[in-house]
Amino acid sequence: MKRTGFKKKPTKPLKRTKLKKVSKQSISKLQRELWQECRRVADILYKPDCYTCPAKNLTGSNKQLGHVPYPKSTLGANLKYDMRVLRWQCFACNINKGGQGAEAYKRMLREEGKAYMDKLEADRQKSVKAYDYYLELLETYRTYEK
Ligand SMILES: [Zn+2]
Repeated sequence: MKRTGFKKKPTKPLKRTKLKKVSKQSISKLQRELWQECRRVADILYKPDCYTCPAKNLTGSNKQLGHVPYPKSTLGANLKYDMRVLRWQCFACNINKGGQGAEAYKRMLREEGKAYMDKLEADRQKSVKAYDYYLELLETYRTYEK
């Protein structure tokens, strides 16, 4: 008997192949990189002196990049890595004294002015998509030179 061609096999509906995700790095790795950049930029912007006490020329573990005047835990993704709220602090102020928020606030208000503080306060209410925002910020900081 003459072959009439291949019998059509019943085909299973093709499984949709998942679009390969662009390999995304983990958010924690991104945050680590971002933090390194924050420290690098802080070295350009600020003297290595404690923002909230007379300690000068901080080095090593005594040179902490503190979140001031608001504690990090109260900041959303849009401000955690924002240079406006990051200043060098000694270990005692940043860790033992919880960031010395009140002192920091007074100094910041004195040096930066009311409009700056108001803008910060307003920005605290905003929210961003963390991952995308971090990528953007990392890009910005990487190009930051003296
Ligand atoms: Zn200090």
